[in-house]
Amino acid sequence: MEQGNSSLPSDFIRDIIEEDLRTDKHQGRVATRFPPEPNGYLHIGHAKSICLNFGIAAQYGGACNLRLDDTDPSGESKEYVDSIVRDVKWLGFDWEDRLYYASDYYEKLYLYALQLIREGKAYVCSLSAEEIREYRGALTKPGKESPYRNRTVEENLDLFQRMRAGEFDDGAHVLRAKIDMTSPNVTMRDPVIYRIKKESHYRTGDGWCIYPMYDFAHCLSDSIEKITHSICTLEFENNRPLYDWFLKELKVEHRPQQIEFARLNLSFTVLSKRKLIELVEKGIVSGWDDPQMPTLAGMRRRGFTPAAIRDFCERIGVAKNDSVIDMALLENCVREDLNEKAPRVMAVLRPLRVVIDNYPEGQVEEFNCPYHPKNSEMGARKVPFSRILYVEQDDFLENPPKKFYRLSPGREVRLRYGYFIRCIGVVKDHDTGEVVELHCTYDPGTRSGFAPDGRKVGSTIHWVSAAHSVPAEVRLYDRLFRVANPLEKGSDITEHLKRQSVEILRSCRLEASLEGTAPGSTFQFERTGYFCADVVDYSDKTPVFNRTATLRDTWAKIAAQREEAGGADSESPS
Ligand code: ATP
Ligand code: MG
Repeated sequence: MEQGNSSLPSDFIRDIIEEDLRTDKHQGRVATRFPPEPNGYLHIGHAKSICLNFGIAAQYGGACNLRLDDTDPSGESKEYVDSIVRDVKWLGFDWEDRLYYASDYYEKLYLYALQLIREGKAYVCSLSAEEIREYRGALTKPGKESPYRNRTVEENLDLFQRMRAGEFDDGAHVLRAKIDMTSPNVTMRDPVIYRIKKESHYRTGDGWCIYPMYDFAHCLSDSIEKITHSICTLEFENNRPLYDWFLKELKVEHRPQQIEFARLNLSFTVLSKRKLIELVEKGIVSGWDDPQMPTLAGMRRRGFTPAAIRDFCERIGVAKNDSVIDMALLENCVREDLNEKAPRVMAVLRPLRVVIDNYPEGQVEEFNCPYHPKNSEMGARKVPFSRILYVEQDDFLENPPKKFYRLSPGREVRLRYGYFIRCIGVVKDHDTGEVVELHCTYDPGTRSGFAPDGRKVGSTIHWVSAAHSVPAEVRLYDRLFRVANPLEKGSDITEHLKRQSVEILRSCRLEASLEGTAPGSTFQFERTGYFCADVVDYSDKTPVFNRTATLRDTWAKIAAQREEAGGADSESPS
């Protein structure tokens, strides 16, 4: 139904840009940036911002910079920079030669600060942090001027230069913009723009002991890079007057426009680096790339594709009011992408041994099985069949309820890509009574998957040949949190963790073709879900697969209520 340009995303930010292009506000230029602070790994919320900034630049023939917003030595590191670079690239975006660091602008920013001081628009304040907070007032309480507010320009210049020279301890002085202590916008009440921090920076080492605050550094970095549209999240809305104030007072040549949009909130997870660091540091997850993490590194390891994440970001769109997106939507995006791209294979996660009594011992047949039911270009592989198989434990029930169409004593089913088999015997463990083996017969006339006499079976089940199968470990991931909003009521997110968010199955059996799979490859295990060979723990000796997503979920059910149900993934009585 979509035609022409209507398939391009459209939102209030793009509307602004189109208007600016129409009025030639920035001489036809569109320049954006993605400005992460390298103090943690990128998460799916950042992906929204990445897709937006790079997407807009691409759509309007502009450019998007990758800028490391590294103005705080605490917690920033090269490891984080490397992870950010890796993840943005993986998502599919290219900043060409425009990888910038705010820390490269320290000298320029310092000169801007001197300029403000000289013009009487900034002063060195010697109140303590506590006092500054107190003097600032609150929304309904006006601020009070600092007793240091009227220091002379000379005194301010002298003190600020000595701050830079390292003459004072942390917290002894700060530099503040001289704006308006009675402003209804608390952000405008003489905000701090530089503080002393005697801490080594991962790039500038001990070259600096004063560091600029975000509000000062960000707008000027944008201006230095000639950004036209500085897109950020809603919590910076109150900071926009300050953003504009610095640019105006410093009479910079390039004045970017700040535009705020609603950040992504996702149910059943947390999207805050501070909270994610906590999960890593407390050992609740195995690291930033744990497949349960909402980080791009974790999602990649889990088997998410860049296309699925980009599709998700496009579908959620860009708005001006906060909302929470259902995790099920994200899961559905990866499911849809993998449905197209993932080769189908057979894997038995909880094996139950099946002996085909009337199949000749030592005989092996090979079935030619296509990798994709709808895409013959993906080719096919040979799947060996022999007398002893494994099927899924829960594909058998000794006393089946009414609507159970799979194996049970006396019942006939189809083996995927092969014969009909009928269960004629059950072997149980003497002590536990647990079913440990089934005896079946096969009908040699059903090799095509159909019976010459036209008789039907209730279901088709997957299987592997025992002797040819590959032992593997499979990790079934669930959501990390029990509740949709782990940040609700207090800040201890660890209280809301699921007791068991991953189930590890160690005696799985994969079809022979999966031997020697490259880590990172993704498959659909038929009837089970989408799985990805783990890039960290996979070895030829112990193949490890992560479940990326199940085949269906509540999201699909909701959709199915509207459309007629049915599809490749369902248990299909034939
Ligand atoms: P966090 O709250 O996780 O610490 P942050 O905003 O401090 O995130 P930055 O590194 O400053 O992290 O973020 C870089 C960019 O990504 C910013 O422009 C920010 O607005 C954007 N961003 C961060 N989180 C989200 C989110 N949940 N949804 C959309 N954009 C986000
Ligand atoms: Mg930030």
